[in-house]
Amino acid sequence: MSEPIAAPIDVAIVGLGNMGTPMATRWLEAGYRVHGFDLSEAARERFEAAGGIVHDTADEAIAASAVAILMLPNSAIVNQVLTDAIDSGALSSGTVIIDMSSSEPTESQKNAARLAELDVRFIDAPVSGGVRGAQAGTLTIMVGGDEQQVENQRDLLERLGTVVRVGPVGAGHAVKALNNLLSATHLWMTSEAVLIGERFGVDAETILKAFNGSSGRSGSSEVKWPKFILPGTYDSGFAGRLMLKDAKIATGLAREVGVPTSLGEEVVAVWQKAVDELPAGADHTEIARWLRERE
Ligand code: NAD
Repeated sequence: MSEPIAAPIDVAIVGLGNMGTPMATRWLEAGYRVHGFDLSEAARERFEAAGGIVHDTADEAIAASAVAILMLPNSAIVNQVLTDAIDSGALSSGTVIIDMSSSEPTESQKNAARLAELDVRFIDAPVSGGVRGAQAGTLTIMVGGDEQQVENQRDLLERLGTVVRVGPVGAGHAVKALNNLLSATHLWMTSEAVLIGERFGVDAETILKAFNGSSGRSGSSEVKWPKFILPGTYDSGFAGRLMLKDAKIATGLAREVGVPTSLGEEVVAVWQKAVDELPAGADHTEIARWLRERE
């Protein structure tokens, strides 16, 4: 999807962090008029330099457009932003809220219900593919919501990557959390496996080459280790605390639907320990270094 839109259309985004900024930039490049807000002044300045229209509050940004994207750290913050928007009257009948944050599926269902009372639509559309995927427009977008509503937002969403409609509201957030439980498990286990192989005398690059031609491969062995861990940059742009949040959402969902996941609970426990001991903003790939240094 590279053709610009025929005439400018307004869209709002609240949350201009590692993901929100490159997403907004893609919409700007496609010809959308993008209204934005972030609590961080640095983020607001970066967005303005990219051509975005900065507002003084989230409510003002949301009120400026019929479609508002949320790209925020967690459900508690999403819920607060929506409550403020409801209380301030920023939402008008027919507004569409697209929560692209990795939020809790049951909270999304509740948000959809309370917004429906105001004739405001809600779609959950979390993403996978990281900062580089957002920059390149190669994200996978896991969408939950009414089919026609999703269809109406197809151009906006496809500027960022591939849309996979997974079901009704909440389903996108459920599948996203489950994906990241897998990803957290893969990264942890790949990092331990590399460490074990190295201690036995095989170098990390050789181990990964073998894994990547074999059944043990994953996004962690194919992308995260070669791009962010082997070079020692640990700069994927996805924080460890956000990965832990997602793994917890997935195990919470497992309990809710009554599926035991002892491995999932263990993954949450080991990630919790690593995240607690790493610096607050540490990238999630830093767990490989933490594992190496833990003894
Ligand atoms: P981030 O911490 O870089 O950005 C979040 C932004 O939200 C920050 O700039 C922060 O200032 C802003 N913010 C917080 N509270 C706010 C409020 N009340 N009003 C306005 N702005 C507020 O996080 P990120 O990496 O961009 O992730 C955003 C979401 O996307 C998270 O839910 C995360 O789990 C998910 N996600 C991240 C990645 C990734 O690779 N970084 C990939 C897929 C999904």
